[in-house]
Amino acid sequence: MEVFDSPEAARAFVSALRSQGRTVGFVPTMGALHEGHLSLVKTALSCDAAVASIFVNPTQFGPNEDLDKYPRTLTADLEKLKSAGVAAVFVPTRDQMYPDGFSSGVEPPRISETLEGVCRPGHFRGVVTVVLKLLNALPVSHAYFGKKDYQQWRVIEAMVRDLNVGTRIIGCETVREADGLAMSSRNRYLSDEERSRALLISKTLQHVETAYRAGERQTAILQNHMQQMLLGENIGHRDTATPETSPGRRLDTLQYASIVSSYDFTPLATIDRPAVALIAGMIGTTRLIDNRELGQTDV
Ligand code: AMP
Repeated sequence: MEVFDSPEAARAFVSALRSQGRTVGFVPTMGALHEGHLSLVKTALSCDAAVASIFVNPTQFGPNEDLDKYPRTLTADLEKLKSAGVAAVFVPTRDQMYPDGFSSGVEPPRISETLEGVCRPGHFRGVVTVVLKLLNALPVSHAYFGKKDYQQWRVIEAMVRDLNVGTRIIGCETVREADGLAMSSRNRYLSDEERSRALLISKTLQHVETAYRAGERQTAILQNHMQQMLLGENIGHRDTATPETSPGRRLDTLQYASIVSSYDFTPLATIDRPAVALIAGMIGTTRLIDNRELGQTDV
């Protein structure tokens, strides 16, 4: 497995494969790799070759976020990628990505303006800028993103479409722990007590999906159930389908629990098209997100 730190070397490697007519699948990551990342790699291996990147991108972290304590496990990550069959990994330094004098940036698409975009100002500008830089350094045929970061996947799809980037963007299913917790590099911050409370997020999404399958289409009712489950409070509506929650077992802060159109993230009063339920909140000092698609979305 090749390891490159310069964009030029990475580009030469990918360009050589592409000029032989081979497809190249790319998995961008921030490292601290887990089975979720490796499932993207496995999917990328359906191309003739798979490449990955590891770069903790400073421009997508807010001033009060966890950039400095973000887990860094480079040696183990490279081992995992090698065993998985990755042909090359791009591991640039901060200076290689943002040398002195760097001042450009990509204006993120409109879909970035809600939910994560509101909670994390500047985050998506950092994401689309680094992803475009990575796709320029590695001119791959396919790039794979996790639906775990659902809005990020849609934002990148829109950026690539809007800016005529010649890479196909593919969203991959979220990999979960056996008990339903979505795998995340940030899960390692959780104490046992926090981890058991974090399960409330996937349980709430399961409840929403069950209610949706049973025929509930009113977003306000479903969102209200989500808030009740996550905060253990009775907000507004109560009906027989209202879930029970135990006091003390809840999120510390709920940032959003929303259902929106899965394509353009517009709010929906009634779920009459493919939708996605999304949750973001804090457990202690750890920020967690998760989501569940509702209805047919593979268009
Ligand atoms: P990150 O290292 O957190 O930037 O994630 C790199 C890629 O892995 C992104 O496309 C994420 O959406 C994806 N990813 C992270 N966690 C999971 C998961 N549990 N299942 C599937 N993909 C994931």
